[in-house]
Formats: sequence, C-alpha cells, structure tokens
Amino acid sequence: MRKTLRLGVMGGTFDPIHFGHLVAADEALVQFNLDRVVFMPTGQPVRKTHRHVSSAEDRYLMTVIATASNPDFEVSRMEIDRPGDTYTVDTMTALRAQYGAGAELFFITGADAVREILTWKDADRFIGLCTFIAATRPGYDTGLSAASAVALPPAVEYMEVPALAISSSDIRERVRTRRPVRYLLPEAVASYIDKNGLYGEPGADI
Ligand code: NAP
Repeated sequence: MRKTLRLGVMGGTFDPIHFGHLVAADEALVQFNLDRVVFMPTGQPVRKTHRHVSSAEDRYLMTVIATASNPDFEVSRMEIDRPGDTYTVDTMTALRAQYGAGAELFFITGADAVREILTWKDADRFIGLCTFIAATRPGYDTGLSAASAVALPPAVEYMEVPALAISSSDIRERVRTRRPVRYLLPEAVASYIDKNGLYGEPGADI
C-alpha cells in the first residue's frame, strides 16, 4: 500500500527568517512525523498595512539561504508568484489539488496567527484542508482552559518552541539600531541583510 505523504507547510512573512523558525520547523518534522517541510513565504501579507514589509523576493531569498543545508526543508514560490493579496486558503487548495488525497497537510505557523484563523478568508473551507500546528513561545497562554477556547479552530496542535523567544521584529529593530544579531539567525542571512541594506533606514517603521 502507498504511504501517505505527511507534508508540513511552514507559513510566515519571514522578514527575516531566524533560528526560531528553523527550530520550529525541525521540531514539527520530528513531533508530527512529517516527510518534509515546505517553507512558504507570504507573497503580499493581507494584514501588514501598519509597517513596511521587505520585498517578496528578498524574503524568499533569505528563506532559501537559511534552509539550503537541510535536505528535509524546501522553499516554495507559490505565494510570492501568485498575484494579489495572499490567502492561505488558496495555497492549501492548490496543494490539495497537487497532492490529492494521498497527502496529509499540516500548516505550521505562529500561535498568535493561528488565534485569528477563524477570521481568515474562507475559514470554514480552509479548516477542513489541513491540521494546524501552532508554534508557541515559552509561557504562551493558549487560552485552552479559558472561555476563549471556544473561539479556536478545532484541529490545532500546540508545540512549544523555546527558540521562538527570537522574533523578526526584534531582529529588525536590532539591525536598525546597529545592535548584534549574529546568534539569532544564520550568518548568511545576516550578511544578506547587511549587503542589501534591509531594515537599516534611520527612523524606519519596523
Ligand atoms: P504574524 O502576524 O506576522 O506573526 C504572528 C506571530 O507568529 C509572530 O510572533 C511571528 O513571529 C510568529 N510566526 C509567524 N510565522 C511563524 C512561523 N512559521 N513559525 C513560528 N512562528 C511564526 O504572522 P504572518 O507572518 O503575517 O502570518 C503567518 C501565516 O499566516 C502566513 O503564512 C500568512 O500568509 C498566514 N495568514 C493568512 C491570512 C489569510 O489567509 N487571511 C491572514 C493572516 C495570516 P516572527 O515575527 O518572529 O515570525
């Protein structure tokens, strides 16, 4: 009998990608017995109107650089090549069509993003397409015992990742204020940021 493919889809803006994301993907790979994890940089994030987001190409390239050495990680251009706002439902529908019933899909992302899933486009349809893996920072309150639990989508698996104490917003602020980032993200990504002058403008809205 053919084995069901267990495919992790790591969704994020990755502006920039850091060790927290990489550790979370690796943890999901092992904890959920995934065959591989496809990193899916968001093309045009729908809810990021409050700050400048680096170009899709810069975020894609940083993700490729960061994952290059791991044979279990891949990076997809699916969202960055799709015109218009990025909706996860479109991505999961396309992946479901590509892989058919022979694949089990796991959408991995930050727990704060997962909290809002019910408000995303076509949430009802999206929720039926995959299992959600919500990566949490240490001490994160999932709200599971509180009244808010009823507002969470059904198939959510929580996964605590201590390395998620690292955050992209902190890295952007550190670059802007010329503080060290060396041990927070792969060296080659730090070099890419430096070479391309990302996050560096004085007074930039991070
Ligand atoms: P976000 O709101 O920028 O991030 C929320 C929190 O989750 C942040 O603390 C972030 O930390 C963390 N996070 C984000 N991606 C992560 C990942 N892959 N692993 C671990 N932690 C992660 O989230 P976002 O990047 O905009 O969106 C996350 C995903 O949800 C993307 O794939 C996006 O396309 C999708 N999304 C879809 C819709 C929709 O379809 N309507 C709406 C919103 C989001 P860092 O800043 O350090 O990453």
